[in-house]
Amino acid sequence: MKKAIERHRSSGFKMTPQRMAILEYLDGNKEHPSAEEIYRSVSSRFPTMSFATVYNTLDLLVSKGKVAELSIDVGKKRFDPDTAPHHHLICRSCRCIEDIFEDFSIEVSKGNKADFEVTGHHIEFYGICPSCRKKQELLNND
Ligand code: ZN
Ligand code: MN
Repeated sequence: MKKAIERHRSSGFKMTPQRMAILEYLDGNKEHPSAEEIYRSVSSRFPTMSFATVYNTLDLLVSKGKVAELSIDVGKKRFDPDTAPHHHLICRSCRCIEDIFEDFSIEVSKGNKADFEVTGHHIEFYGICPSCRKKQELLNND
């Protein structure tokens, strides 16, 4: 598989060092990081890069379809380099996000879709992750 940077470049997307740094950080990243987390990592390599630049670059990458923006975490936007259709699990306690690659094949009935042509759907599951469950068990055993 081609490296992400080459893939983006060959698709005619103009690469700047900032865009490259952000795409490199996101490439294969399963953490669904927030803009703050991306900024923290990228600014260690590019100390002059501002948060606004990171934020605007993420906006651009989302509008170009290079990165998906998730609104699943009410506290902050999270970003996903995997733009293939998939669903998510979010931990109510630590806000970690896991991918779900499963086709739930649900459909909106004709009378409910307001003449929309439905092109996709995204399902958000809420719960408690294994490490938070373990912590809770430890607290309960005290
Ligand atoms: Zn958790
Ligand atoms: Mn994901």
